[in-house]
Amino acid sequence: MASLSDLPLRDSLRGKSPYGAPQINVRYALNVNENTHPIPEPVAHDIVTSLARAILSVNRYPDREFTELRERLAGYVGHGLTAENIWAANGSNEILQQLLLAFGGPGRKVLGFPPSYSMHSIIAEITDTQWVMGERDAGYEISPQTVVESIRRTQPDVVFLCSPNNPTGTHLSLETIAAAYDACDGIVVVDEAYAEFAPDGAPSALDLLEGRERLVVSRTMSKAFAFAGARVGYLAADPVIADALRLVRLPYHLSALTQAAAVAALEHTPEMLAMVDDIRTQRDRLVVELAALGYTPLPSASNFVLFGGVDDPKGLFEALLERDILIRDVGIPHHLRVTAGTEAETSAFLAALADLTTR
Ligand code: PMP
Repeated sequence: MASLSDLPLRDSLRGKSPYGAPQINVRYALNVNENTHPIPEPVAHDIVTSLARAILSVNRYPDREFTELRERLAGYVGHGLTAENIWAANGSNEILQQLLLAFGGPGRKVLGFPPSYSMHSIIAEITDTQWVMGERDAGYEISPQTVVESIRRTQPDVVFLCSPNNPTGTHLSLETIAAAYDACDGIVVVDEAYAEFAPDGAPSALDLLEGRERLVVSRTMSKAFAFAGARVGYLAADPVIADALRLVRLPYHLSALTQAAAVAALEHTPEMLAMVDDIRTQRDRLVVELAALGYTPLPSASNFVLFGGVDDPKGLFEALLERDILIRDVGIPHHLRVTAGTEAETSAFLAALADLTTR
């Protein structure tokens, strides 16, 4: 069998590992921050009707500008934004990749703030953008001063912020985002994949878009919208950002089926988001009960909780897996991350953990 080293791989990819969250068939999959509630059946039927209509013209290329989807997404995000402010792709991963294809690349730097979403640095590698790291304050916070110091030190072309941050759940203040914007001439991307799980009234970087043409807010239908399998991510920004991404996107990158499914789902926004409150309740319950078990959960504005105080993360991960419960070892010493599931899933996780903890 040939190995990768036998191939004339690009030098910058040599020795790298692919994204690798385990995909294991388990009863309780609480490892990749999905919405574990299936979409409501009446909504699913409506989506199928739309797909059935779309498939009849699948002999033609889809609308390259996915105009209807952008209109719907603009209506969903509000903030006075219109279709011109929106761009979409196959998951927010592809949004981030298109951003680095357009604004990163050889000779350019992207600044990230680990611990954060692991794909940020992998997308930097894929696009040959140098990955440079900033500092966080205590409790994984990033103050305006800290963000500015990191930007001054590293002089990035692109800054990746993530709020609420994966895997810590930390929410960034608008002061920090605005300070990052003012401190550089590059593109500032705020990855808000988990925005809908933040407390009601929590600020979003969308509030800062007006007059800031280098600011990009990345969002997804994968999490709150329970649409991870459909692969729909999007961004909100000045229309000129979409002009830049048109230079790097592949023609017709969003299939007619993806567009039809997403438009139909957005027509049912209230039903699709109905589970967000339940998930927040389970998240808050995780924080309380993990603490009661002697762990140190971080406060979370997202649909997952990172908890410390784990003597042997690998051992605990394996012991839970033996009980059909899959959570995530994100590589932070003495910590594990768990997704807030349904009430039953969260109960199963907490019961297994309580059992393993008192052993
Ligand atoms: N951003 C963050 C912070 C994430 O955690 C994830 C998925 N885990 C993504 C982006 C990508 O999600 P998707 O491509 O499904 O939109």
